[in-house]
Amino acid sequence: MIYDAVLVGSGFSAIATLCNLIERLPATATVAVIGDDPGFGRGTAYRSELYLHRLNVPAGRMSLFPDRPNGFVDWLAERKRPLRDGDFASRQDYGLYVRDSLAALLRNKKNRCKVDLIRAKATGCVERYNATLGFLLENGGEIAGRNVVLCLGVGNAPLPVDVSRLAASAKERIIENPWRLSWLRRVGRNDDVCILGSGLTMIDQVLALHARGFRGKIDVLSRRGLVPHGHVAPKPPADFDPQTLPVTMSALLHRLREESKVAGDWRSVMDRLRPQTQALWARLPAAERVRFLRHALPWWNIHRHRVAPDVHARFRDLMESGEVVVHAGFLLSVEQTGNSLAIHYRAREARGSRQLDVDWLINCTGVERAGMAHSPLLAEMKRLALIKADPQGLGIVVNPQSRVIGDAASSVRLYAVGALTAGQFWEITAAPDIRIQAQAVAGDVAAVIAGKEGG
Ligand SMILES: Cc1cc2nc3c(=O)[nH]c(=O)nc-3n(C[C@H](O)[C@H](O)[C@H](O)COP(=O)(O)OP(=O)(O)OC[C@H]3O[C@@H](n4cnc5c(N)ncnc54)[C@H](O)[C@@H]3O)c2cc1C
Repeated sequence: MIYDAVLVGSGFSAIATLCNLIERLPATATVAVIGDDPGFGRGTAYRSELYLHRLNVPAGRMSLFPDRPNGFVDWLAERKRPLRDGDFASRQDYGLYVRDSLAALLRNKKNRCKVDLIRAKATGCVERYNATLGFLLENGGEIAGRNVVLCLGVGNAPLPVDVSRLAASAKERIIENPWRLSWLRRVGRNDDVCILGSGLTMIDQVLALHARGFRGKIDVLSRRGLVPHGHVAPKPPADFDPQTLPVTMSALLHRLREESKVAGDWRSVMDRLRPQTQALWARLPAAERVRFLRHALPWWNIHRHRVAPDVHARFRDLMESGEVVVHAGFLLSVEQTGNSLAIHYRAREARGSRQLDVDWLINCTGVERAGMAHSPLLAEMKRLALIKADPQGLGIVVNPQSRVIGDAASSVRLYAVGALTAGQFWEITAAPDIRIQAQAVAGDVAAVIAGKEGG
């Protein structure tokens, strides 16, 4: 069967696009969603069941639909889970809200387009003569579409050192993908753990370990040893026009520091910048984008991606009690020593190598910076010249309407939604940005299907 639209992926990006399509398409249209995740709509982010795994964005900005901002807040209130000021909802609740929103749209069978949710992994694709793209499924099937939206998310970054030569018994103690939560059950209560990476994923894993009764020591290692800040009671955004910001990194940083002094709080400056980040990124020359990624990214991350206040307080307590120790350094190698792992690193401000002896090494270096290495499907699409890699390693090349630009001319209408499009938009990993993109792409696809717009 050839569908009018095929969405590949089953996380937030796919479900946000699908909900918007259902609202726009006529009953005669057909849509398929191909996803290998059992929890359609949850993805890695929203399948956690731990209450301390909170959203890092206030509920009022997490509605699936940008033009109906109270969607999630109302959902919480209807379930008698209203939030007090300054509270952040759990990611589990958000996953349920996304699922419920889709289910409500699917219940109306009479007037909506046909939707098939297909639980499968797409491993390859074939471009057909009739301007359709067929996706080959791991289970042997094929699903073809005239309009295709890639919503694949991004993979987990590989460890930055080669551990392939270690014995199997050592490799078992290296958790390359912490989102497969089964590893937590294998860690002993008093084991020593080294977490590589000091961002949001690290905080998630520290809290998950403690929620399971873990009382051992956790050493955190990252190049700069910077950990995310916490949210505080919101103040009004700083009063400056982001359009007037300079576009060289040094001048930009200088200006933002000055604005922080005027506002009295850097958070107000970040909050003012937040809705304009995509526009600022679009104005940055390529060399300045490279400079930003090379030098400013760790600072950007900790200021921009703040955590809920009580999550931050819990993490700070663990640091103050010495249960979590953060080291700034560069990982050199991992060796096996008896039943332990020896983690060798070069401390940031010191000469020579240092060693941590631990039972476990957990890779929390974050999501791969929107690369392609994790996805055989993307590798195949690149081979077919349907897509090309962003020059800065930020996913794939798309135009400002999220249309994919490949290396060869193609008759297929191909879009991407989510972090795969970070090269074009930069700020496109969180729900408040993705939902706008999903709505725009769905609007475009629906217009084509309704025959309002040509190829
Ligand atoms: C731990 C965590 C916490 C976060 N917290 C917040 C937050 O508080 N607020 C916020 O706004 N944002 C948050 N985010 C950002 C979050 O990533 C986005 O909001 C959103 O979940 C991204 O969704 P996605 O669909 O683009 O990607 P994903 O959620 O990664 O979903 C992609 C899906 O596609 C499937 N897939 C991939 N390839 C194939 C294939 N070939 N065939 C079939 N299926 C495939 C994958 O299995 C996956 O289910 C968080 C992210 C993480 C990881």
